Amino acid sequence: MGSATEVFAARALSVPHREAARAMLAYWARAGRIACFTMAKLIDGRAIAEKVYVDLRREIAELKAKGITPGLAVILVGDNAASRAYVRSKDKMCRELGLHSLKLELPTSTTQTELLSRVDELNQDSSIHGILVQSPPPEQIDEPAIVRALDPRKDVDGFHPENVAKLVIDDPTGFVPCTPLGVQRLLVESKIEINGAHVVVLGRSMIVGKPLALLLMQKNKNGNATVTMVHSHSRDLAQITLSADIVVAAIGRAKFVKADHVREGAVVIDVGINRIEDTASERGYRLIGDVAFDEVSKKASAITPVPGGVGPMTIAMLMANTVKAARQWL
Ligand code: NAP
Repeated sequence: MGSATEVFAARALSVPHREAARAMLAYWARAGRIACFTMAKLIDGRAIAEKVYVDLRREIAELKAKGITPGLAVILVGDNAASRAYVRSKDKMCRELGLHSLKLELPTSTTQTELLSRVDELNQDSSIHGILVQSPPPEQIDEPAIVRALDPRKDVDGFHPENVAKLVIDDPTGFVPCTPLGVQRLLVESKIEINGAHVVVLGRSMIVGKPLALLLMQKNKNGNATVTMVHSHSRDLAQITLSADIVVAAIGRAKFVKADHVREGAVVIDVGINRIEDTASERGYRLIGDVAFDEVSKKASAITPVPGGVGPMTIAMLMANTVKAARQWL
């Protein structure tokens, strides 16, 4: 028995007609008339994130029993609406899990010196195990200098040079940025083979693309991939993505990855979050990914939706990194 269509046809028809129906379907398939009857498996980021939270709740209870409540401090400078929403959801998730959550909201006029001094206070605060400064800060702030000022043991975003170096040298004591960590977890939980797979990562940012490439090529059971990275200067991009077992799109270009970029049966992970105008929506916009979902899902074997794919995993991994940070103080 072959495709879902064949199964359906065989069940729906009476016995004498089954063979004829099957022969007809086979003919149509060969003629290219019904090439796209199978849909990719949907990788449900929300469900996998819930699974992560079940494990985290147990770990948090164990830490609390030993007198440690993991604490996360989020510093927001300025009044960027999207940043405010991200900070709110991080704070909400901390509270739902019973973590100590500190939200520091500073005015847009905050100086570099003032911000450095708040970071220093949090570095010294023993009730805080993870610190992050919401990006992007206002323009007078030198963001890399702020990241370097963080105690690397509290850098739950994984952006401090010491943690980047630990990722490069396969040192598991470091912190890995949350989105790449979430992508790896999605693949592992979905039982998608990373070992030996050719992974093509679109985008080379320090938040997603580069750390993801490093993570998936690490020499360990959830790594061992052959990774190719492409970016805006790559030649013959589609030729490269077509050879991938796993395609990860993280470029911030709505519906950039088309069916022509992806081979039949590949796994496609869409990190992109792009706002497009939608007058039918109450907000006036909706979010879509970097992948043209409708066409690519007919070719891929598994795919993440946007929203509901990588997004929920990013925040789950932030919580996981905070718990990991707290464990260091046992
Ligand atoms: P970024 O810093 O702007 O980097 C984008 C990368 O994509 C760059 O390396 C750029 O190449 C590459 N790129 C841009 N246009 C391209 C093209 N036409 N062809 C090939 N490569 C191209 O973005 P980011 O912060 O990594 O974010 C990427 C996307 O992921 C965004 O939509 C963002 O909103 C989303 N995101 C989602 C989550 C989540 O939790 N789901 C988390 C983080 C980011 P160059 O280096 O050559 O410029």
